[in-house]
Amino acid sequence: MRVLVIEDEPKVAAGLRDGLQGEGYDVIVEATAEGGFYRATTEELDLVLLDLGLPARDGLEILRALRERGLKTPILIVTARDAAEDRVLGLDSGADDYLVKPFAFEELLARMRAVLRRGAADPRLLMLDDLALDVHERTVTRAGVRIELTVREFELLQYLMKRQGQIVSRDALTADVWRESARSTTLSNVIDVHIARLRRKLDVAASAPLVHTVRGVGFLLRKEAP
Ligand code: CA
Repeated sequence: MRVLVIEDEPKVAAGLRDGLQGEGYDVIVEATAEGGFYRATTEELDLVLLDLGLPARDGLEILRALRERGLKTPILIVTARDAAEDRVLGLDSGADDYLVKPFAFEELLARMRAVLRRGAADPRLLMLDDLALDVHERTVTRAGVRIELTVREFELLQYLMKRQGQIVSRDALTADVWRESARSTTLSNVIDVHIARLRRKLDVAASAPLVHTVRGVGFLLRKEAP
């Protein structure tokens, strides 16, 4: 389980990180609203813990912006603001739950489990740089321009986007996208052809190349070349 903690207070952030890691969670900490927004829209996450009192921008703004972008990841507000109107505002802005500081760590864990049970953690919108893939509508846009993909190209891109920043082997694509035994070596060429076509379609003017080949290993979807 991967959790993003958006918290500017170093002590609180470190406490959450250590405590959650001790419970087996994979934890990312961001101290700013901008950093948190970026992580929430680019990483594959199961849950976000969001502080409201952040420097420069309010956590509620981030929450609204994330939901407007279609982010479905469960978000749990963890804040010192305890007024009823703050709670209502938080929940109305798209938070899944609201926990007031100071809190017992056990309560946080229980609420996290509850939110995780409830929420489908699969994000609807997968994003990388100016590329966006809508899982429900099965559409892809780059810099706001619609890109037409075949069913297989779409599945290939969705698979890569869910694993952005990780190297994906041809064997993994054979098994998971083509759903064939990884031993069928003949698929290697088919995969390469699909990757080339996908690359051409995504490679629109003025946008950075996103699909990279890692020689002898596989493919890597990310903004920077490996
Ligand atoms: Ca704060």
